[in-house]
Amino acid sequence: MKYFRLSQDAVKALADSYSTPLLVLSLEQIELNYNLLAENMPGVKIYYAVKANPDERIVRKLSSLGGYFDVASDGEMRMLNHLGIDAERMVYANPVKTASGLNVARETGVNKFTFDSESEIGKMAAAIPGGTVLLRIRVDNPRALVDLNKKFGAHPDEALDLLIKAHEAGLDVAGLCFHVGSQSTGNEAYLDALKICRGLFDAANKRGLNLRILDIGGGFPIPTLTEEPDVAAMAAGIYKAVKQYFPHTEIWAEPGRYICGTAVNLITQVIGTKVRNNQQWYFLDDGLYGTFSGVIFDHWDFELETFKTGKRIQATFAGPSCDSLDIMFRDKPTVELEIGDLILVPNCGAYTSASATVFNGFAKTQIVIWEEVYEEIKAKLELAAAG
Ligand SMILES: *Cc1c(COP(=O)(O)O)cnc(C)c1O
Repeated sequence: MKYFRLSQDAVKALADSYSTPLLVLSLEQIELNYNLLAENMPGVKIYYAVKANPDERIVRKLSSLGGYFDVASDGEMRMLNHLGIDAERMVYANPVKTASGLNVARETGVNKFTFDSESEIGKMAAAIPGGTVLLRIRVDNPRALVDLNKKFGAHPDEALDLLIKAHEAGLDVAGLCFHVGSQSTGNEAYLDALKICRGLFDAANKRGLNLRILDIGGGFPIPTLTEEPDVAAMAAGIYKAVKQYFPHTEIWAEPGRYICGTAVNLITQVIGTKVRNNQQWYFLDDGLYGTFSGVIFDHWDFELETFKTGKRIQATFAGPSCDSLDIMFRDKPTVELEIGDLILVPNCGAYTSASATVFNGFAKTQIVIWEEVYEEIKAKLELAAAG
């Protein structure tokens, strides 16, 4: 699978037209990613995890494709509501909800929730009586980059008890969910979780509950510096197992990273260089407090494409702010660079701009849509070629 990646000429032309740092988002890539999951998991409702990249244009594109949305806060529900997205298409999938989140859910009509603890049952039942709830089950996955199961998920041993208590509180106990963790390579964690959930469905139904929905969460991976996972094969494998264990159950998935991660390229430029203690330093105009926030929050190592050849060295890359934390990479292999060199960072659409700050007065990096600027950039390149 080839993902969205700007050519050197396009990077130059875009930097010239829009200056740097600049994020370029391909809505066509968003559509391809959505369709790949939809085609390999037919009938599965795809709830985009908005937190991975809440850009309105991504949300609108997915909405036009018939997508659903995993929201986790009052702000995300309000935003989708303003965009005209029906509350029916949202699940408020934060196991620990705020008072304000529950208020906005009630106001906007969001009535599907996940939970993983007894303390949440009363909150949900009071805010949205009869609301539809899925119990989040903990699944252990040492192969995920970001393992969320240390924070979330009920132990399978407590599941039945929690389901019954939610039912007794008047909630519509509809099913189970899990999240294997982010950037999960391989199907094992999903398959383990499916087995656990099958056992719990059977046990719950024996006790008179009628579980009818299984939400298999997110975790689908994107290419890294060293690996390009075959997500089509992975999704198809998971789907096969889902159909085997849950032939008659409504299935949801909550991909975040896979939908948006490969749809964005960053163009940044070298704004300073120095040598200190025999170590080469490069300063870029986007940093740890900006698009590279994923280095910290997402434990991500980004590819830096310099379009240059030459002597290979190891360098430290720092951002533009006046803070000593603002260092993205140490001992990063690179060619030698100089001020003004443009750097392309592909696959940086997930957990990047979403967690960027405006610390130190640096604005969030502008995002342009590739399909909207394409004609202009193409004309520019043709002009350059002719001249
Ligand atoms: C963050 C999150 C997701 C999305 O995870 P990805 O790894 O980005 O696919 C899905 N479900 C829940 C509950 C989440 O918190």
